[in-house]
Amino acid sequence: MKLDSVGILISLRPLGERDAVAHIFSYDYGIMVGVMKGAQIAKKNRPLIGQVGSLSWNARLDSQLGAFHWEAEKNMAAVLMTMPDALAMMNSAFDLIDALLPERERYETLYDETILLIRNLGTTGALQSYINWEVVLLRELGYALNLSCCSGCGTKKDLEFLSPKTGRAVCKACAEPYINKVYKLPINLNVTQNFLEKVCDNQGVLLPASRKFLNKKY
Ligand SMILES: [Zn+2]
Repeated sequence: MKLDSVGILISLRPLGERDAVAHIFSYDYGIMVGVMKGAQIAKKNRPLIGQVGSLSWNARLDSQLGAFHWEAEKNMAAVLMTMPDALAMMNSAFDLIDALLPERERYETLYDETILLIRNLGTTGALQSYINWEVVLLRELGYALNLSCCSGCGTKKDLEFLSPKTGRAVCKACAEPYINKVYKLPINLNVTQNFLEKVCDNQGVLLPASRKFLNKKY
Protein backbone atom coordinates (compact mmCIF):
# COMPACT_ATOMS: atom_id res chain seq x y z
CA MET A 1 0.00 0.00 0.00
CA LYS A 2 1.31 3.42 -0.98
CA LEU A 3 -0.14 6.85 -0.21
CA ASP A 4 1.06 10.21 -1.52
CA SER A 5 0.19 13.67 -0.30
CA VAL A 6 1.58 16.94 0.96
CA GLY A 7 1.76 17.70 4.67
CA ILE A 8 3.17 19.40 7.73
CA LEU A 9 5.63 17.54 9.96
CA ILE A 10 4.07 17.98 13.41
CA SER A 11 5.91 15.47 15.60
CA LEU A 12 9.13 13.51 15.54
CA ARG A 13 10.14 11.00 18.22
CA PRO A 14 13.37 9.00 18.32
CA LEU A 15 13.15 5.33 17.42
CA GLY A 16 16.38 3.56 18.30
CA GLU A 17 19.51 5.52 17.55
CA ARG A 18 19.00 6.39 13.91
CA ASP A 19 15.33 6.51 13.04
CA ALA A 20 12.29 8.47 14.17
CA VAL A 21 8.55 8.00 14.30
CA ALA A 22 6.96 10.93 12.51
CA HIS A 23 3.43 12.26 12.67
CA ILE A 24 2.49 14.23 9.58
CA PHE A 25 -0.70 16.26 9.17
CA SER A 26 -1.37 15.59 5.52
CA TYR A 27 -3.78 17.32 3.18
CA ASP A 28 -5.33 14.15 1.78
CA TYR A 29 -5.34 11.74 4.73
CA GLY A 30 -5.17 13.90 7.84
CA ILE A 31 -2.84 12.50 10.50
CA MET A 32 -0.43 9.88 9.19
CA VAL A 33 2.13 7.98 11.27
CA GLY A 34 5.25 6.29 9.99
CA VAL A 35 8.95 5.71 10.41
CA MET A 36 11.52 8.10 8.95
CA LYS A 37 14.68 6.10 8.41
CA GLY A 38 17.88 7.83 9.46
CA ALA A 39 16.01 10.92 10.66
CA GLN A 40 18.33 11.33 13.67
CA ILE A 41 21.58 11.00 11.78
CA ALA A 42 20.82 12.77 8.50
CA LYS A 43 23.49 15.37 7.74
CA LYS A 44 21.62 16.86 4.83
CA ASN A 45 17.88 17.38 4.59
CA ARG A 46 17.24 16.46 8.20
CA PRO A 47 13.51 16.29 8.97
CA LEU A 48 12.42 19.06 11.34
CA ILE A 49 9.13 19.84 13.01
CA GLY A 50 7.32 22.63 11.17
CA GLN A 51 8.53 21.60 7.72
CA VAL A 52 6.00 21.52 4.90
CA GLY A 53 6.67 19.03 2.15
CA SER A 54 5.58 16.10 0.04
CA LEU A 55 5.36 12.61 1.39
CA SER A 56 5.06 9.11 0.22
CA TRP A 57 3.96 6.50 2.77
CA ASN A 58 4.58 2.83 2.18
CA ALA A 59 3.59 -0.32 4.03
CA ARG A 60 3.22 -3.90 2.95
CA LEU A 61 -0.02 -4.11 4.93
CA ASP A 62 -2.35 -1.20 5.60
CA SER A 63 -2.24 -1.99 9.33
CA GLN A 64 1.55 -1.68 9.58
CA LEU A 65 3.33 1.38 10.88
CA GLY A 66 4.75 2.04 7.44
CA ALA A 67 7.63 4.23 6.37
CA PHE A 68 7.73 7.77 5.03
CA HIS A 69 9.71 9.18 2.21
CA TRP A 70 9.75 12.90 3.02
CA GLU A 71 10.81 15.78 0.81
CA ALA A 72 10.69 19.06 2.70
CA GLU A 73 9.80 21.99 0.46
CA LYS A 74 10.16 24.68 3.04
CA ASN A 75 10.60 25.11 6.74
CA MET A 76 8.15 27.87 7.54
CA ALA A 77 8.87 27.35 11.23
CA ALA A 78 12.56 28.21 10.80
CA VAL A 79 11.91 31.94 11.21
CA LEU A 80 9.95 31.19 14.39
CA MET A 81 12.88 29.48 16.12
CA THR A 82 14.10 32.78 17.56
CA MET A 83 10.58 33.82 18.59
CA PRO A 84 9.61 31.98 21.81
CA ASP A 85 5.99 33.17 21.80
CA ALA A 86 5.39 32.11 18.22
CA LEU A 87 7.12 28.80 18.84
CA ALA A 88 4.98 28.11 21.92
CA MET A 89 1.83 28.67 19.86
CA MET A 90 3.07 26.45 17.03
CA ASN A 91 3.89 23.65 19.49
CA SER A 92 0.48 23.95 21.08
CA ALA A 93 -1.29 23.82 17.70
CA PHE A 94 0.70 20.76 16.60
CA ASP A 95 0.12 18.96 19.92
CA LEU A 96 -3.61 19.65 19.76
CA ILE A 97 -3.80 18.30 16.20
CA ASP A 98 -1.84 15.24 17.28
CA ALA A 99 -3.96 14.63 20.38
CA LEU A 100 -7.43 15.29 19.01
CA LEU A 101 -7.59 14.36 15.33
CA PRO A 102 -8.23 10.73 14.43
CA GLU A 103 -5.66 9.07 12.19
CA ARG A 104 -6.32 8.97 8.45
CA GLU A 105 -9.29 11.29 8.36
CA ARG A 106 -9.16 14.21 6.00
CA TYR A 107 -9.45 17.73 7.48
CA GLU A 108 -8.64 19.96 4.53
CA THR A 109 -10.07 23.18 6.00
CA LEU A 110 -8.03 22.76 9.15
CA TYR A 111 -4.98 21.90 7.04
CA ASP A 112 -5.26 25.16 5.09
CA GLU A 113 -5.86 27.09 8.31
CA THR A 114 -2.80 25.51 9.89
CA ILE A 115 -0.57 26.55 6.97
CA LEU A 116 -2.00 30.06 7.34
CA LEU A 117 -1.39 29.99 11.10
CA ILE A 118 2.29 29.08 10.77
CA ARG A 119 2.68 31.99 8.36
CA ASN A 120 0.90 34.41 10.70
CA LEU A 121 2.77 33.37 13.85
CA GLY A 122 5.72 35.50 12.85
CA THR A 123 3.58 38.63 12.72
CA THR A 124 2.19 41.01 15.34
CA GLY A 125 -1.25 39.41 14.96
CA ALA A 126 0.06 36.02 16.13
CA LEU A 127 -2.08 35.60 19.24
CA GLN A 128 -5.31 36.55 17.47
CA SER A 129 -4.45 34.20 14.58
CA TYR A 130 -3.84 31.44 17.08
CA ILE A 131 -7.19 31.98 18.81
CA ASN A 132 -8.96 32.04 15.43
CA TRP A 133 -7.24 28.77 14.56
CA GLU A 134 -8.51 27.13 17.76
CA VAL A 135 -12.04 28.27 16.94
CA VAL A 136 -11.70 26.50 13.56
CA LEU A 137 -10.28 23.40 15.29
CA LEU A 138 -13.25 23.32 17.68
CA ARG A 139 -15.70 23.71 14.78
CA GLU A 140 -14.04 20.89 12.85
CA LEU A 141 -14.35 18.66 15.93
CA GLY A 142 -18.05 19.42 16.28
CA TYR A 143 -17.91 22.22 18.86
CA ALA A 144 -18.86 25.22 16.77
CA LEU A 145 -19.00 28.51 18.67
CA ASN A 146 -21.94 30.52 17.40
CA LEU A 147 -21.74 34.29 17.75
CA SER A 148 -24.41 35.22 15.22
CA CYS A 149 -27.32 35.90 17.61
CA CYS A 150 -28.36 35.61 21.26
CA SER A 151 -29.21 32.05 22.30
CA GLY A 152 -31.80 33.41 24.74
CA CYS A 153 -33.83 35.89 22.71
CA GLY A 154 -32.41 35.80 19.19
CA THR A 155 -31.29 39.43 19.04
CA LYS A 156 -28.19 40.34 17.09
CA LYS A 157 -27.47 43.36 19.31
CA ASP A 158 -25.42 43.69 22.50
CA LEU A 159 -23.86 40.27 22.11
CA GLU A 160 -21.33 40.66 24.90
CA PHE A 161 -21.20 37.17 26.40
CA LEU A 162 -20.82 33.50 25.55
CA SER A 163 -22.50 30.53 27.21
CA PRO A 164 -19.95 27.97 28.47
CA LYS A 165 -22.56 25.24 28.05
CA THR A 166 -23.76 25.81 24.51
CA GLY A 167 -20.94 27.86 22.99
CA ARG A 168 -23.52 30.39 21.78
CA ALA A 169 -23.60 34.14 22.22
CA VAL A 170 -25.78 35.69 24.91
CA CYS A 171 -26.94 39.32 24.87
CA LYS A 172 -26.36 41.67 27.77
CA ALA A 173 -29.97 41.50 29.03
CA CYS A 174 -30.23 37.69 28.88
CA ALA A 175 -26.85 37.28 30.55
CA GLU A 176 -27.79 39.42 33.54
CA PRO A 177 -29.08 36.61 35.83
CA TYR A 178 -26.05 34.41 35.00
CA ILE A 179 -23.41 37.09 34.90
CA ASN A 180 -20.90 35.04 36.93
CA LYS A 181 -21.35 31.97 34.78
CA VAL A 182 -20.99 33.39 31.27
CA TYR A 183 -17.82 34.43 29.46
CA LYS A 184 -17.22 37.98 28.39
CA LEU A 185 -16.59 38.32 24.65
CA PRO A 186 -14.36 38.57 22.68
CA ILE A 187 -13.14 34.98 22.73
CA ASN A 188 -9.76 34.56 24.42
CA LEU A 189 -7.49 31.63 25.31
CA ASN A 190 -9.41 30.94 28.52
CA VAL A 191 -12.64 30.53 26.61
CA THR A 192 -11.22 28.22 23.96
CA GLN A 193 -9.41 26.19 26.63
CA ASN A 194 -12.70 25.51 28.36
CA PHE A 195 -14.13 24.02 25.17
CA LEU A 196 -10.91 22.18 24.33
CA GLU A 197 -11.06 20.55 27.76
CA LYS A 198 -14.55 19.27 26.96
CA VAL A 199 -13.30 17.77 23.70
CA CYS A 200 -10.37 16.17 25.56
CA ASP A 201 -12.69 14.75 28.23
CA ASN A 202 -14.92 13.23 25.56
CA GLN A 203 -11.97 11.68 23.81
CA GLY A 204 -10.35 10.49 27.05
CA VAL A 205 -7.13 12.42 26.44
CA LEU A 206 -5.34 15.10 28.44
CA LEU A 207 -5.07 18.68 27.26
CA PRO A 208 -1.47 18.95 25.99
CA ALA A 209 0.99 20.60 28.39
CA SER A 210 2.03 23.01 25.64
CA ARG A 211 -1.56 24.28 25.49
CA LYS A 212 -1.82 24.71 29.27
CA PHE A 213 1.43 26.64 29.13
CA LEU A 214 -0.14 29.18 26.72
CA ASN A 215 -2.91 29.93 29.19
CA LYS A 216 -0.45 30.70 31.93
CA LYS A 217 1.55 32.94 29.67
CA TYR A 218 -1.08 35.10 27.92
ZN1 LIG B 1 -30.83 37.83 24.56
